[in-house]
Amino acid sequence: MKTLLFFTISYLISLSSLGQKIFGKDTLKASSGDVAITFIGHGSLLLQWGEQSIYIDPSSRQADLYKLPKADMLFVTHHHNDHCDPAALKALSNSGTKTFMSEIAHEKWHQGMVLYPEQQLSIDGVGITVLPAYNLIHKNEEGELYHKEGQGNSYILTLGDLRIFIGGDTENTPEMKALKNIDAAFLPMKLPYTMNPAMVVDAVKAFKPKVLYPYHYDRKLLPELTELMKNVPEVELRIRKN
Ligand code: ZN
Ligand code: ZN
Repeated sequence: MKTLLFFTISYLISLSSLGQKIFGKDTLKASSGDVAITFIGHGSLLLQWGEQSIYIDPSSRQADLYKLPKADMLFVTHHHNDHCDPAALKALSNSGTKTFMSEIAHEKWHQGMVLYPEQQLSIDGVGITVLPAYNLIHKNEEGELYHKEGQGNSYILTLGDLRIFIGGDTENTPEMKALKNIDAAFLPMKLPYTMNPAMVVDAVKAFKPKVLYPYHYDRKLLPELTELMKNVPEVELRIRKN
C-alpha cells in the first residue's frame, strides 16, 4: 500500500512538473494567413493570426495563463465567472492589450471597451461584428433564462479572408441562424446552460459554416452530435480536445 501511494504521488509530481497542460490545437488555412487555434479548455480559446494573439473568455482555472503569450486582444462574452475572470484578464494583459466585452461583464473588470450587439468595427486589421448571445428555452429553477438577451455577446472575427464565429453562452437564436459566409463556427454545447446537439445542428443547418467546432461542451454529448451531423455533410465537424 505504501509503495502504491508513493508511486501515485510521484506520478502526480511528475505530471505537475511538466508545467502546462497539453492543449488541443488546430489550424484554419487561408492565403491571407493561417489562424492557429488553441483550445485552452472550457470556453477559453486562443486564436493566433500573424503576430496577433487573440483570446476569448480566458479562465485562470484552465491553465497557467502567465506561460502563454500576452494578449493583443481579449474578448469576453459575458459576466459569468467561468467566462469573465479578472485573474485571467490580468495574467494576459499588458499595456498594449485591447479588451472588448459585454456591458454586464465590463461591470466586473472596468477596463476595455463595451461592445453591443449589431456593432461592427475594425481594429488593427481585425474585423469585429457583435451578435447577441442568449437562451431561448433553458431556464434555472427560478424559471429565469440562464442568459437573458442583452447580457452576452457572440463575436464574428474577420481575420484576413476568414470569418470566424464564436458563440458565447447562447442557443440557436434567429440572429445566429441568419449568419452568412462563416468559415468556422465555435458553438457551445453544455447543458443545461446552452445548446443540446439537436440545437447545434439546427443552427448549423441554417447558416452552414464550412467548419463546426463544438466547444465549451459536455463530452458525453459528442456521439449524438456526430450522429446528427451525418445529415449535414456540407459542414465539416472538427472535434478537438475541449
Ligand atoms: Zn454563462
Ligand atoms: Zn458558459
